[in-house]
Formats: sequence, C-alpha cells, structure tokens
Amino acid sequence: MKCFYAKVTEAHDPQFRLYLGTMARNAEQAERARLLLAGLDRLDLPVTEPGPVPRDILERVHTKELLSFLETGWSEWKKLDRSGPEVVPNVHALNKERTYPKHIVGKAGWHMGDTSAPLAEHSWQATLGAAAAAHDAAKAVAAGDSSAYALCRPPGHHSSADVVAGHCMINCAAVAVETLKPTHPRIAVLDIDVHHGNGTQDIFYDREDVLFVSVHATPETYYPFFVGYAHETGRGAGEGYNLNIPLAQSTGDDGWCNAIASALDRVAEFKPDALVVSLGLDAHENDPLKGLKVTFDGFRQAGGMIAAAGLPTVLVQEGGYLSPDLTTSLVAYLAGHTGRDIDL
Ligand SMILES: [Zn+2]
Repeated sequence: MKCFYAKVTEAHDPQFRLYLGTMARNAEQAERARLLLAGLDRLDLPVTEPGPVPRDILERVHTKELLSFLETGWSEWKKLDRSGPEVVPNVHALNKERTYPKHIVGKAGWHMGDTSAPLAEHSWQATLGAAAAAHDAAKAVAAGDSSAYALCRPPGHHSSADVVAGHCMINCAAVAVETLKPTHPRIAVLDIDVHHGNGTQDIFYDREDVLFVSVHATPETYYPFFVGYAHETGRGAGEGYNLNIPLAQSTGDDGWCNAIASALDRVAEFKPDALVVSLGLDAHENDPLKGLKVTFDGFRQAGGMIAAAGLPTVLVQEGGYLSPDLTTSLVAYLAGHTGRDIDL
C-alpha cells in the first residue's frame, strides 16, 4: 500500500482552543503525525512526499472565498493592532441576512465554525500538504492500486465548502473524491472517525453520485452537536444518499463493528466504483476525546471488513489524538485492512 505524507504539515501546530469556557491547548498537534508515521514504519510501509495539489481540485470542494481566507487570512490578521499569534473567531455570521465582510475579523467569523481550527503562519502550506497527500493517494488508486493511505493533518471532515471547524481545514476526503471522479464516477465515502463528518456530509448532501455514510458517537451528547442525526438523509437529488449511524457514547467493539457492517451493506447496495474512508482513530477507548470505546481488535476487524468490500479504496487520515495508543491504533487498522498477522 502506497502511503503519502507532506512534511510541511509539521509547521502547523495550533495552540488555541476554547473548551468549556477555559483556554486549552489545541488537541490537533504536530506530534500526531510523528506517532502515525511510527505506525507506518512498524508495518514497513514506505512514505512518499506528495506533489502539489491542483487548485481546480480545491475549487471543486471549497469556495474561492474560503480558500482565499485560508491563504491570506493570517497576514491580514497580523496587520491588526494587538492581534494574537493565531486567527481565532470572536464573532459568528449567524443571521439569515448577511453580507460577506471586508474586515479580517468578520471573515474569521464567516469562515470559522468554532475556535478549534485556528489559522497560524504556516497553516495554509500545511493544509495544502494534507490535501496533496489525499490527492496523490487518490491518484494512485485512480491508476489501479487497490488501496492507498494519506496521512493528512490538519484533518478535513468537519470542513464544509465555506466553513472550517473541528481542527479541520481543507476537506481531504472531498479532495480524494474529486480526484477519483474522472476514472471512478460513483463514489462512496465511509467516515469512521468518532465524530460525525459534518463537513463532508454538507459538501455532498445534494448529490446522488457520492454516497456519504458515517458511524460516530451520537451528536446528542458529543461534537458536532447540531448535525449527524439519523434523520439526515440527503436533499433534492441527494435524498437517500446520506446515512448516519450515531452510537451511544462509550459503545465498544461489538456495537461499532456492527454499525460498520450496516454501513458497508449500504455501500454495497450503492454499487460504487471506489471508496474513500475517512479514517479517524479517535474512536479508541484511550483517545483523550472520549467518545467511544473501540480497542485495537476493533480497528483490526474494521480494517478487514472494509477491505473485504473489495473496492478501490483511498484511506484518508482524520482524527485520533495524542495518546500512547495512537500508533498501535493505526497499525491495527492497516494490519486488518491488508490482512497482515501482526502482534499488537
Ligand atoms: Zn474526530
């Protein structure tokens, strides 16, 4: 399995996060990539630096305004008197009647859904690197590889066309979809991150050519709270092409793997040409975000089940935060996916 990772993403190490009314260290730290790379190393999987991602692919996923904000927002912000080191929103564009703002503080409120995806000096180059990894992994699968893995950080599945949130910037799963489209017109996205992939759902909600299926901790008690319910089934031409399977918090391997089996039944019924997996590892029982209680064996089972679908598959890294078990969680999933017998 080819693996892609852009080293430039190390320069993105966000600090700010507002959590329950307190200032907290951001969970999406550069150290995550080092732990994930250690997993690839343990499996002797070589890692390739991706080439640049074409702008037209990014513009199929995101608005020009959002891309421009991500590219230039930090330099505009630094021109403000007494601005902090990272762009963090302190207003939000929630009115029905609204006008796109000229001021950077307004743009931050327009394009940032929460405070967990702050934009710093190197964030744009880092998120381009993440998107490039997804693009090159998708190109490998488009060219005939049965599967490929993209180590993307910052992650992407909480970002919609016009809004970033939840530690995410460019939506890398959607980049993989758009890269695959010319060769694989019918695509399923299976999101197994512990959080609902609200950004990816939003991007494809009106479309019948892309099925979105997500297995996640229930938004009744867990991020992203407003989206991710079972009654969200798509809109217009996309009606019936969105399936959410929310699980009670602290659900373990059996419940999680049964939900993935149901998700794969829907994927099989859709008869896609290719599969994009939003591979979050934060469903692990020791992940600091505490959503579900999946073990290494659960990840291994999930990898085996998803590979057994027999589809050309792009694996796109999403969440999975700092814990001693992050490395082994990736090893477990990839061992299951590639059918390797390895002691965990
Ligand atoms: Zn997550």
